[in-house]
Amino acid sequence: MKAFKINQSECVGCSTCALIAPTNFAMNSSNVAYINTQPQTEDEEAECNQALEICPVQVISAV
Ligand code: SF4
Repeated sequence: MKAFKINQSECVGCSTCALIAPTNFAMNSSNVAYINTQPQTEDEEAECNQALEICPVQVISAV
């Protein structure tokens, strides 16, 4: 299972990742995305991969 990471200083607060992968991504009170929990299932990992691909500023990465 991949582990996902966000470069928070570059996040523009669009919330797309949190809409696509709501278990794993969330927005903090400053409207910056954070990893709520790393994916535990293949479905969650697929959603996280989608978020990574669709982030408009490409600040989500995975190892
Ligand atoms: S999709 Fe990218 S820019 Fe948008 S909230 Fe998530 S990390 Fe931030």
